[in-house]
Amino acid sequence: MLGQMMDRPLLVSELLRHAERHHGAVEIVTKTVETGSIHRYTYRDAHARAQRLANALQRLGVQPADRVATLGWNSHRHFEIYYAVAGSGAVIHTINPRLFPDQIVYIANHAEDKVVFYDITFAPLVEKLAPQLKTVKHWVAMTDRAHMPKMGLCYEELLAAESERYDWPSFDEKSAVCLCYTSGTTGNPKGALYSHRSTIIHAYASALPDAISVSARDVILPVVPMFHVNAWGLPYACAMQGVKLVFPAQHLDGKSLHQLFESEEVTMSAGVPTVWLGLLNYMKEQQLRFSTLKRVIIGGSACPPAMIRAFQDEYGVDVLHAWGMTEMSPLGTATTFKSKHLKWSREERIKLQYKQGRVLFGVDMRIVDENGRELPWDGKAFGDLQVRGPWVIKSYFKGEGGDPLKDGWFPTGDVCTIDPDGYIQITDRSKDVIKSGGEWISSIDLENIAVAHPAIAEAAVIGVKHPKWDERPIVVAVKKPGQEVTKDELLRFYEGKIAKWWMPDDVVFVSELPHTATGKLSKLTLRQQMKDYKLGTG
Ligand code: AMP
Repeated sequence: MLGQMMDRPLLVSELLRHAERHHGAVEIVTKTVETGSIHRYTYRDAHARAQRLANALQRLGVQPADRVATLGWNSHRHFEIYYAVAGSGAVIHTINPRLFPDQIVYIANHAEDKVVFYDITFAPLVEKLAPQLKTVKHWVAMTDRAHMPKMGLCYEELLAAESERYDWPSFDEKSAVCLCYTSGTTGNPKGALYSHRSTIIHAYASALPDAISVSARDVILPVVPMFHVNAWGLPYACAMQGVKLVFPAQHLDGKSLHQLFESEEVTMSAGVPTVWLGLLNYMKEQQLRFSTLKRVIIGGSACPPAMIRAFQDEYGVDVLHAWGMTEMSPLGTATTFKSKHLKWSREERIKLQYKQGRVLFGVDMRIVDENGRELPWDGKAFGDLQVRGPWVIKSYFKGEGGDPLKDGWFPTGDVCTIDPDGYIQITDRSKDVIKSGGEWISSIDLENIAVAHPAIAEAAVIGVKHPKWDERPIVVAVKKPGQEVTKDELLRFYEGKIAKWWMPDDVVFVSELPHTATGKLSKLTLRQQMKDYKLGTG
């Protein structure tokens, strides 16, 4: 017997309609791409302009399921494009402009993008790419006439010519809404194609108090780009809850961020560890404080304990450590406390925050050994993390790479432990695990210790070949400007913090470490750079 409830599809257009109706006067603020001046309007304005844009897309010949790409910073215009494209039944493809041009050409052709919206900072890139993007019919510069670059249509003129009335169509909630390509550190990037249904369920789940907690009383500034897994879904969750949004565009330096946090009374922000490094350094140098910021969500790569302590102890800002991936829309876990943790000491609670947290309802997980056997949740056994759930992919766009699932589970490629309370701790990407004498050494643990040293800005730990032990860990580190530390001093810093056999065999100081287009350490590139390195101990 079926239930007797209405069959109303879960559609992204409903989020903006809800925001307009119930939070119409709430502001969306952008530090503009063109001049860095402040643009301010409301959800009511955003909804009206998204409708104009939906009409414009129709005029440009965009059909349901067509891919419409963006090369854009976090801004009100990018927000409007999210909703106009998705709401009209087309698919928004957010391209990461930091990818190598060849990769952009590959993914835009693979996605068969029909229209590309671009911010004017990317005009030189667009001019270079255009001849190679065969499916693109229209280029639209996200600006007004006064700031128009050479190529394409003018966004503001396009909108001005249209009506503010557009009836958002109703269709199957399983229809595709958004296409995000993985960073593709090995092989070609692969596309994760989300549906309206998965996007809405993910927004519900992520807004919960024990997830990232998004409420109408917040002012949220997503530092994480809208071209990196939809800014972790915040443009959807914020509209769902009627949150004041603040978009920083490309102004991501410590000074600009701090000014925006203060002037717009931001309460919560989200981003990868590397951006926070810049902000924290600036705050320290200038001896500044935050007057309204209460929480930062840190994820995308392991948040170093030193960063959790800096935010919480020095600035009174709570850190929420979260884990996820493109294939998971992206949110999987967050480190929120359970009731019993409130009785723990502050120090014990901080140690729990080093972990990536417990799953949101909707994500099911397990760890398995190399034979696919499930491992215990004892906080000690390391295994390959597998997940399943309504916002996890079942295949890649166009079937790329074949069937990724194993017995109905998606293998994340991450290695972790799970404790009896269900908190995961990622120890490595499976490709980065260091295997020494048949045992595993966690590169993330060793990196976290290195960056806790006062003279170290950033560190990567990789395994190098060893004739007896198979592999041994070495630290490749960047010193903070003006700071000194020797190899022996750094190694002494490890003493008492790890098992003896985890002790790195060497330290190599470099002026910078390679990063991927999403700001993570690129160990693949680092291993290539270090291929001629010979271990003294070998
Ligand atoms: P992406 O698809 O580019 O978002 O990358 C996802 C990958 O980033 C995950 O599979 C993890 O390897 C890594 N990652 C994300 N969040 C964390 C975290 N909090 N700690 C450690 N690794 C993380």
